[in-house]
Amino acid sequence: MMNDDTIMALSTPPGTGALAVIRMTGPDAFLITDKAFRGKRLSEAETHTLHYGYMEDGGTTIDEVVVGIFKAPHSYTKEDVIEISCHGSMFIVQRIIQVLLDHGARHAKAGEFTLRAFMNGRMDLAQAEAVADLISSDSESAHRAALNQMRGGFSSELKKLRDELLHFAALIELELDFAEEDVDFANRKELADLIIRIKSHVLNLKDSFALGNVIRHGVATVIAGRPNAGKSTLLNALLNEERALVSEIPGTTRDAIEEMININGIIFRLIDTAGIREATDVIERMGVEKTMEKIRQSAMVIYVFDVNEISYDDLLVDLSQLPSNDIPVIAVGNKIDEISEEQLLKKMEGFKNLLFISARENIHLDLLRNKIVSMITKDKDLSDQTIVTNARHYDSLNRTHKALTDVEHSLESGISKEFFASDIRRALNTLGEITGDIATEDILGVIFSKFCIGK
Ligand code: GDP
Repeated sequence: MMNDDTIMALSTPPGTGALAVIRMTGPDAFLITDKAFRGKRLSEAETHTLHYGYMEDGGTTIDEVVVGIFKAPHSYTKEDVIEISCHGSMFIVQRIIQVLLDHGARHAKAGEFTLRAFMNGRMDLAQAEAVADLISSDSESAHRAALNQMRGGFSSELKKLRDELLHFAALIELELDFAEEDVDFANRKELADLIIRIKSHVLNLKDSFALGNVIRHGVATVIAGRPNAGKSTLLNALLNEERALVSEIPGTTRDAIEEMININGIIFRLIDTAGIREATDVIERMGVEKTMEKIRQSAMVIYVFDVNEISYDDLLVDLSQLPSNDIPVIAVGNKIDEISEEQLLKKMEGFKNLLFISARENIHLDLLRNKIVSMITKDKDLSDQTIVTNARHYDSLNRTHKALTDVEHSLESGISKEFFASDIRRALNTLGEITGDIATEDILGVIFSKFCIGK
């Protein structure tokens, strides 16, 4: 389905810059530009070439520009596309846009370029959404995840599985047509095997969502511990700058502070807290409650203790007081510069999974950084992992999982064919929502409206 109008937008951020790029796609992209471009006739130029010249309005020169041309179908939208690089002044940009409008282009709506790419079969829906993620990704790992998804790794696998399921769905619909004969066209054993395979794939993707989510939004990491354990010092050491208040007086860091750090491309949101200790006054108690609240909302806890102050038994008690849920805790013994190795070994004997550092003297902070990352990635290599980062996909995966479980139950209980035929249809639909094989106008509207204009 080709569009018959030609759309155009500024593709670089608005404002002053060295360069700005105006992009146009549609059947008249070359004709329209030719009317305003003094230089080579673009409709006669080769695809994937750059042309130097001037944009003009009537007889007046607006700017010196370079025009890139991409002929259908070898372009982002599979239509004729031109990109005009001009100087990055909003005055120039406005003038050029006005001239293009005068010659018959229209303003693109948000996401319309990518919508065309999708409509023209250049990419599927998961890939199109990845474009939006890619544009807004601000850390290396978020960028990698979006790029992987855009290349289609994640949806091509789902597509294959969906096609296999489609095959069975067709056979079962056929059985319904021949209901009186009571024949089975679809091999039940093979169908059951396929359901298991799809389910395990869907489960993996679902699990990856937790990781995808932290990659996108940052891992909320609480630094907790008794007053004076060295939490603020550690935070500062990790940040490499002195932002949090470091104080000699126990319990003075009462307000939770949040700072971002980037380790190996993953963003961690570090939250320093007031000490967890028996509340001695009202303010302190508020601090403690806040700490517990923060911990409950976090993805990871770094529990800091002073190896000189705390015994092995104290530590066990402290750790047991943390909110008990699935949040991973890294216990970190601080101030090892003040204790001999022998003393330390004797004191903490038998304790596994402890990390010993000196926040102030910068000892073993590299080990801590590695530990923090591996707790989150579970030592998987993020670069070749399929990671679901999109809440809509997650929702579809959940519903697919539910539908598949229902098919399994129907198969086991030998329930009537109508039921599992409808469960299979449901699974096909939810899978199709991810790959875009089933995309209602509503879904498309929501997805593409999230784009910025010019994409
Ligand atoms: P918080 O109350 O847990 O935030 O503790 P602070 O970061 O304010 O540190 C309390 C005191 O311990 C300060 O005087 C720090 O200089 C000191 N401190 C922090 N880390 C270390 C360390 O690794 N070694 C030593 N010797 N002192 C430290």
